Amino acid sequence: MLPIVAIVGRPNVGKSTLFNRIVEERISITDDLPGVTRDRIYSKATWLNREFRLIDTGGIELTDAPFLTEIKAQAEIAINEADVIIFTVDAKDGLLPGDRDVMAMLYNSNKPIIIAVNKVDNPKYQEAIYDFYEFGATHVINISSVHGTGIGDLLDEVVKHFPEIEDEPYEEDDILLSIIGRPNVGKSSLTNAILGYDRVIVSDIEGTTTDSVDTPFTLDDQKYVVIDTAGMKKRGKIYEKLDKYANLRAMQAIDRSDVSLLVLDAKDGIRQLDKNIAGYAIENKKAMIVVVNKWDAIERDQYTMNEWEDKIRTEFKFLKYIPIVFLSALTKARIKSLFPVIKQAYDNYSKRVSTSMLNEVIQDAMILNPPKPHKQKLLKVYYVTQVKAKCPTFVLFVNDTKIMHFSYGRYLENKLREKFDFFGTPISIILRNRE
Ligand code: GDP
Ligand code: GDP
Repeated sequence: MLPIVAIVGRPNVGKSTLFNRIVEERISITDDLPGVTRDRIYSKATWLNREFRLIDTGGIELTDAPFLTEIKAQAEIAINEADVIIFTVDAKDGLLPGDRDVMAMLYNSNKPIIIAVNKVDNPKYQEAIYDFYEFGATHVINISSVHGTGIGDLLDEVVKHFPEIEDEPYEEDDILLSIIGRPNVGKSSLTNAILGYDRVIVSDIEGTTTDSVDTPFTLDDQKYVVIDTAGMKKRGKIYEKLDKYANLRAMQAIDRSDVSLLVLDAKDGIRQLDKNIAGYAIENKKAMIVVVNKWDAIERDQYTMNEWEDKIRTEFKFLKYIPIVFLSALTKARIKSLFPVIKQAYDNYSKRVSTSMLNEVIQDAMILNPPKPHKQKLLKVYYVTQVKAKCPTFVLFVNDTKIMHFSYGRYLENKLREKFDFFGTPISIILRNRE
């Protein structure tokens, strides 16, 4: 699991500016996902080759909550979820009572707390740092999020406190499953239906408490592990009631899994949050299956399934290649239909394609539909190779990475999908200049 770094602090100290400064935008031609709203609250970032998740807790809005409730929610997220806390304060304002409130909540957390004294755009504010030493934080550092100064030093300090990297205790070809979706769509029920016994307590009451454990099982000689998310419902935390928070749980599970089952509720239809959660699984390059649950609970005829499929394909435009399964976790109807689909998605996700076949497919595709000149330059692809499986990742060595039009990348991706079966999995195409 990736280390989590949470940015906390009162409003307007510059949390979201700092967040944007730290987050590194990674661009690859297949990364554009129409229909995905990127959440500017959670993101992956990398420093000194350590990847981590960054949360701007200030972006998780509690509508109309009083100041103390809001920062309490921020602090709770940081204390419960983060490995390192960046407590952001404002050098221009100096130490305000609101900062004391935040610190009071963080104080007993036993988490490394690094105070980022922000807005030190100019040496005259450097002295403000002394005000904040009294908090007894792990480290205090001057930064300017707008100018980008001090950010490297801040991150050096942050990564120092990351836990050791732990390997997954599972075998390479065990299929790790995450069951993701909005609250109450039936994730716990589906987990139980898949396992064939009640591992997770199911309840209408949000906030059912259970321990969190991964659950391995074997079916037809294939080992699977259900990565726990559904069981991790805790009682009484302000932030757990937030829709947005569901994303964090989902992301941690997605990170560790091979295949994500995105559960939709047939009674509710498709909501924006469903799309956001799907977006994360795809952005993180995981195989995915859409599970339309509660199929027992709706009125249906011979057209209903097709209508749903059309609706899903329209709403989730970026999920053309994702299988859709209709079932009922409650009555267990059609549960068995899920496993062959999981296995297929996993096999495609871990597929390797020979270099000669790849080059043939790309060459043929380029002859059939040659690229158009861009800035008077014509794209040449010299060589293609698969550098990685899980998800299948291809490197195209080209004459100039900057002249490939986005739509042409899409075209090549589609050709690869036509030729090799990648149903259920994203694929990644990376461009590299040939030296
Ligand atoms: P948040 O409410 O803590 O997320 O704060 P924002 O990131 O929205 O920033 C609040 C205001 O402070 C905005 O007007 C930012 O442009 C400004 N700000 C953020 N970082 C800096 C900085 O390093 N220097 C200066 N001068 N202003 C900053
Ligand atoms: P979670 O929050 O996503 O884990 O959802 P739960 O598994 O706790 O289910 C929420 C509610 O939906 C419970 O009342 C379940 O009994 C109900 N539910 C789950 N699956 C089904 C289903 O397939 N059909 C029907 N009718 N209800 C379901």
